[in-house]
Amino acid sequence: MIKNIKEAGKGQKKAEVQVHYNDTQAVGCKHCGNTTFIPAMKIGRLSALHPKNQHANDLMLRFPTEACSKCGEEVDLSKPEKN
Ligand SMILES: [Zn+2]
Repeated sequence: MIKNIKEAGKGQKKAEVQVHYNDTQAVGCKHCGNTTFIPAMKIGRLSALHPKNQHANDLMLRFPTEACSKCGEEVDLSKPEKN
């Protein structure tokens, strides 16, 4: 018997709110002030000896990020700047 598992509260959809760029505070590159960014990727090697590595070999892991389209400086969106 197959049951659909519904997450609590998932059935209620919130009204979608459209946020435009003009509603936001522009985030600029810390290095050059440019405000456009391109998708980029960080690659990390997880050692075979690391407890989180379930495999026998080192793993190469990809982490998506954004980089300044002008100077290439990475922008860290996990730490919003305080004004
Ligand atoms: Zn930049």
